[in-house]
Amino acid sequence: MNAEILCVGTELLHGDIVNTNAQYISKKLAEIAIDVHYQSVVGDNPGRIKKCLGVAFSRADIVICTGGLGPTQDDITKEVLAEYFNTEMVYDEESYQHVKKMYSHFRKDFPKNNMRQAYFPKGSVILDNPNGTANACIMKGDIEGKTQIGILLPGPPKEMGPLMDNEVVPYLKQFSNQVVYGEKLVVVNIGESAAEEMILDLVKKQTNPTIAPYASAGKVIFRITAKAESKDKCIEMIDPVKEELIKRFGRNNAYVTETGKVEDRTAELLLEKNITIAVAESLTGGLVASRLVSYPGISKVLKEGFVTYSNEAKMNTLHVNRDTLAEYGAVSEETAKEMAYGAAQTAGTDIGVSTTGIAGPDGGTEEKPVGLFYACVY
Ligand code: ATP
Repeated sequence: MNAEILCVGTELLHGDIVNTNAQYISKKLAEIAIDVHYQSVVGDNPGRIKKCLGVAFSRADIVICTGGLGPTQDDITKEVLAEYFNTEMVYDEESYQHVKKMYSHFRKDFPKNNMRQAYFPKGSVILDNPNGTANACIMKGDIEGKTQIGILLPGPPKEMGPLMDNEVVPYLKQFSNQVVYGEKLVVVNIGESAAEEMILDLVKKQTNPTIAPYASAGKVIFRITAKAESKDKCIEMIDPVKEELIKRFGRNNAYVTETGKVEDRTAELLLEKNITIAVAESLTGGLVASRLVSYPGISKVLKEGFVTYSNEAKMNTLHVNRDTLAEYGAVSEETAKEMAYGAAQTAGTDIGVSTTGIAGPDGGTEEKPVGLFYACVY
């Protein structure tokens, strides 16, 4: 079965909010091997919602909508769904009690138009929304001999997410006996097209697992994705492909981490080899330390971080030589080396890492343009 995601909300169309619901739902469906062929967005306009729902059902078996479950007159997604399945709206006492309870919880008067939130398409399965007033629903029916499923979820992500995880995914699993699992292989020191060239035969040949390049600044990421009856089986299928790719790129140029982040791989290696580190940062102003700090358990090896923006700080804290700064400047190979050495000496660590450069927009010269950057590992 394949799915389409239809998000309702004028704010989405205007670009006032990002469509994180579509991203979330797509990821969840991918995990249970339900293909998403289309995502669409429509404003809070009854006529257009009706049109979009019709189009979505004309090309998908499952349509998941978010938004438009509110109490106002233009929240008509449920009515449109009922019309599509040729059924009527019926009152649900439990949903009425739910809305009432939610209002009393917030000590608010219960507005009359909220009664609308107690009506659902006849025959639908109602999903209790523990985080908001609008209960969700799943409607399944046969239209012209084809089984179709419409799922309506509330718009607020903190309501939609738990309903998707706890109700919709377990429900939809019955229509898919497979899982999809992927791992990211990060390639450094090799450009994107060169990297692709090196494995082109595999990319062309592979169908399961698939190998797909993944754009990312400063590095190339390949996602290896397998579809099988279990995650363990997927891992079994991915492992040999991963090994072959690492062999082709070279062990120093390719690694696998769950997140694909270079800082996570750095932290992993530092911890594995028990190498202590201090960082001295000028250009990055603490970013390197901050990235490392986000890795759990890094305190065993990351001892100190210095943000030494001024020449005085570089001299006083890291003991960079005054003559080095005068002769070569703060943004130079020589200063980067002394900063890294100074960081390791001051903190008493195995290695020191430094960054210095010209970030711009001002401060560049012909000799040292904006973007010039030195990093040193001592
Ligand atoms: P309510 O019961 O609160 O009226 P609803 O189901 O009618 O909810 P909307 O009114 O469409 O949903 O959206 C409520 C809020 O949820 C929006 O203001 C927005 O902040 C958030 N939201 C809605 N749709 C999305 C989306 N696709 N992605 C991210 N956030 C969204």
